[in-house]
Amino acid sequence: MMAQPSSLQSGVRFRALPTQEQTHVLGQWIGCQRFIYNGKIDEDRLFAAQRRMALRDGALECPTPLDQQYAQFKTPELSPWLCDVPSQILRNGAVRWRNAKQRQLKGLAKAPRRRNRANFNSVMVTSELFAFRAEVDPATGESVFRLLLGTKSRSLGELKFKAHRPYGLPNVITITRESRNHWYVSFNYAHACDEILRTPAELAYELNGLRDEELEFVTTGADRNVRENCVATSEGVFYSVPAIVKERLTRKAKGRARHQRKLARQQKGSKNRAKTKDKLARNHAYQRNALNDIAHKTSYSLATSDAKLLVFEDLKIRNMVRRPKARQDSNGRWLPNGQRQKAGLSKSILQSAWGRTLNFTQYKAARRNTLVLVVPPHDSSQECSRCGHTHPENRKEDRFLCIVCGFSAHADINAACTIRRRGIKRLRDGLTKGKAVKRVSFRKNSSRAGPPGVPVERV
Ligand SMILES: [Zn+2]
Repeated sequence: MMAQPSSLQSGVRFRALPTQEQTHVLGQWIGCQRFIYNGKIDEDRLFAAQRRMALRDGALECPTPLDQQYAQFKTPELSPWLCDVPSQILRNGAVRWRNAKQRQLKGLAKAPRRRNRANFNSVMVTSELFAFRAEVDPATGESVFRLLLGTKSRSLGELKFKAHRPYGLPNVITITRESRNHWYVSFNYAHACDEILRTPAELAYELNGLRDEELEFVTTGADRNVRENCVATSEGVFYSVPAIVKERLTRKAKGRARHQRKLARQQKGSKNRAKTKDKLARNHAYQRNALNDIAHKTSYSLATSDAKLLVFEDLKIRNMVRRPKARQDSNGRWLPNGQRQKAGLSKSILQSAWGRTLNFTQYKAARRNTLVLVVPPHDSSQECSRCGHTHPENRKEDRFLCIVCGFSAHADINAACTIRRRGIKRLRDGLTKGKAVKRVSFRKNSSRAGPPGVPVERV
């Protein structure tokens, strides 16, 4: 299975520092873009309902037009506020819906759903509404770019941001509101590379030309340990969450519960409630930043190592963190389903930021002509990496001792070596192609079925 991006787009996200006036206008832009996005979703549902009717009556179908029209939502009586924002902002709302809908039609995502403040808090701004002005910084003598928002006639002034690293000039920027006074601006641009980048198929062909021992030398396998929250490589390197960060994460989790309780008691719309909300947002941000940091450090270290082939285990993280199904006995009484134990495991999986580490490694490796492969993870902790003997007794706590050949190693390193071996086998078998797009699986709607033993009435 191939797991590498097709085009090399790069993005950066900087902390933005809008003025009070800009904050107000950006808030309007976000709201209006969301309004159009939701409007398009409602329209799509209406079309779907009409299609169902048409099928019943035997009339012609009416497919949802995949356009970016928004004029139908802009009525002076019902939505006068839409007339206050630039038309490009509204159009981009329709564009965002269209992109989401196209992802659904390609089988890459589920249907776009209605959004609210909590999950649609950003505005996509295209180049009509911003410009970069090059200037020379009088203090340092370096040339800097100033980001100007708005059009010539309706200028919003300069949006200040902290550029903590170099960036390319984008065609589209996204401005995000994380909490009341935390704003970010992200640029998306084509990544400039020094070396000529090769496609995954070319990389696989090159690696296949190597002799076995050479190939083993340039291959690194990585095993992700749930219990210890770390990543171990076949080279014997461990990447783990620092103890102090672990401690802080635990403390923050307690704080989060406390803030949440407090928030529930406070009066809606009050100033103190807004303050608690800010605290809660900062708390969430700490966890997010800490996990991103770990994932970035691990992936950077892996991608910049001498390895030319990185092998990961293919874990379905979404399935692993999913809530277990509710269980009932024949009388309809609820039985324990292991949710509590599972919650603990889910938490530690998320804490180790697995998915992110793999994601980040993929794009960082692609820029350095390194191939990333994923292999099935079954029994990797019980299989001997030297002779291939698989038995549960091979493993004793965190040591691995093969009962056939006597090979002994740290259990995680042995698992990483096993994963490396599987990766090499996969490459030799030419199994690097596989499906290009990841399709989402839809859960069957089981709500219609009643409790077991009770016949379901069909209408
Ligand atoms: Zn063995």
